[in-house]
Amino acid sequence: MRHWPMWTLKRSALVYWLLVDALALAAVAYSIVTSPQPTPGQIGRFAAIAGTAGAVIVGSSIHSHRVGEAARNPWAAHLCYLTAGLVALPCNLLVLLLFGPALHGVLTQRPESHRWVFTLSATTLAVFTTRYVIGWAEPSTDLVVMVLGATVLLVVRAALIAVGLKLRSPRAKGEEVIGEPIDVVLGIVAVSIGGLMGFVAVTTPVHALMAGPPLALLERAAQLPQWRRSAQRDAKTGLANAVHWDSRARYELAKARGRDRPMAVMLLDLDHFKRVNDEVGHLAGDSALSAVALLLTGTVRRGDLVGRFGGEEFVVLLPDAEPAVARSVAQRVRHAVADLAVPTVRTDGREHLLTGLTVSIGVATTQRFGYELPDLLVAADAALLAAKGYGRNLVEMA
Ligand code: GH3
Ligand code: MG
Ligand code: MG
Repeated sequence: MRHWPMWTLKRSALVYWLLVDALALAAVAYSIVTSPQPTPGQIGRFAAIAGTAGAVIVGSSIHSHRVGEAARNPWAAHLCYLTAGLVALPCNLLVLLLFGPALHGVLTQRPESHRWVFTLSATTLAVFTTRYVIGWAEPSTDLVVMVLGATVLLVVRAALIAVGLKLRSPRAKGEEVIGEPIDVVLGIVAVSIGGLMGFVAVTTPVHALMAGPPLALLERAAQLPQWRRSAQRDAKTGLANAVHWDSRARYELAKARGRDRPMAVMLLDLDHFKRVNDEVGHLAGDSALSAVALLLTGTVRRGDLVGRFGGEEFVVLLPDAEPAVARSVAQRVRHAVADLAVPTVRTDGREHLLTGLTVSIGVATTQRFGYELPDLLVAADAALLAAKGYGRNLVEMA
């Protein structure tokens, strides 16, 4: 238990996450104690909702497994049938539906299980807040109340999670904390299908089965952001991959040309990196690459575009950077890399603190080389080669 990754959370984040978990547990206990025994009709609704959702999620999981999808986002589907339960079920059966995401977390054995528990707890709290708004004992199926409930569910859940993520990583971008626009759309679609499913289940439970196909489509669509991310990001470092960086950089350069704003391109190559691999192993080398990637994103400004250009080469586009600014950013990065200490594990299994990394950097600016990306890259590469030639651990301006 002492080795649980949860204990690595900052104190404020840990307190908040545990508080959310405890409140969710209290809400579950309260709703079980205060709900009367379900009627056979309500059990029928539960069977229709849980059966449909279960069949879709199991089917989709089997499909994902067969095609080798490693990371999936199952929350859109979970939100969908939880919404149906909110409309159609008494609170104690709603608690049973919450076993769906709980079971999912256990079965998929996520590396960060405390994060899964936190998301589940935040979802639970949002579900019971919504239930309170739409009617604790007898939820309303009035359209206005249902829309209000859907909004409360999405907003409360997003807010609880966003606070937790922000406390965990204060530097995290809005997109990582609140989600991308597509996540918002998926949430709205999930609660809409769920609302319909619940509404139908109230009168004729068996008709809830018709929500199966749209739920299956939602399940698949929920994987789209993941697919897009893996197509755009480099798996080892999480940075933009070369192709994605290239297209973003061209777009930003065209924009800057239109506005007549200066830009700079910085090309970085770690010095003697082959030695690192030879001395401490490729896995330690990979850790160093990840650490440099993290350092780069942390050292430059938010609007700067960082990418992995190739093996141990990185590239950064600096919007609005005059040559003097670009040079000082490059120097800052160079110093930060030199100060880096990366905890790694050697090939023989012993822990090793990797230090002494250095980087050579070539910088090209639009003021000298114009706004065509290939011209800037060729110039930055030539400057980088010069930096290597002058002895490495240097910044050279093209
Ligand atoms: P210098 O750039 O200072 O001239 O020397 P170097 O040793 O860094 O030069 P070179 O470009 O010849 O070698 C780059 C090395 O980076 C080769 C390869 O072993 C290592 N490398 C490239 N990609 C990866 C990777 O993804 N993981 C690890 N561990 N090493 C990588
Ligand atoms: Mg290289
Ligand atoms: Mg190198």
